[in-house]
Amino acid sequence: MDCRAVIRELSEYLDGELDRTLFEEVERHLAHCQDCRLVVNTTKKTIEFYCNSAPLPLPEDVRNRLHAALATRLKRPSP
Ligand SMILES: [Zn+2]
Repeated sequence: MDCRAVIRELSEYLDGELDRTLFEEVERHLAHCQDCRLVVNTTKKTIEFYCNSAPLPLPEDVRNRLHAALATRLKRPSP
């Protein structure tokens, strides 16, 4: 699994909706990829923030901005 695959499964991963095999693949990737761990932590905090203020899933515009930010990040060559 690469970073793009992790990002693609991210919302289901955080919602606990991934099947066990995929979940474990994401966990394995996160264990060695700091970039994705950062993304996961940031997304978790964003979701917690919105869950505390309103019982809704991630709003559409936040989701779009997040995906745009991730796309930009993933396009940058790794150091
Ligand atoms: Zn990654």
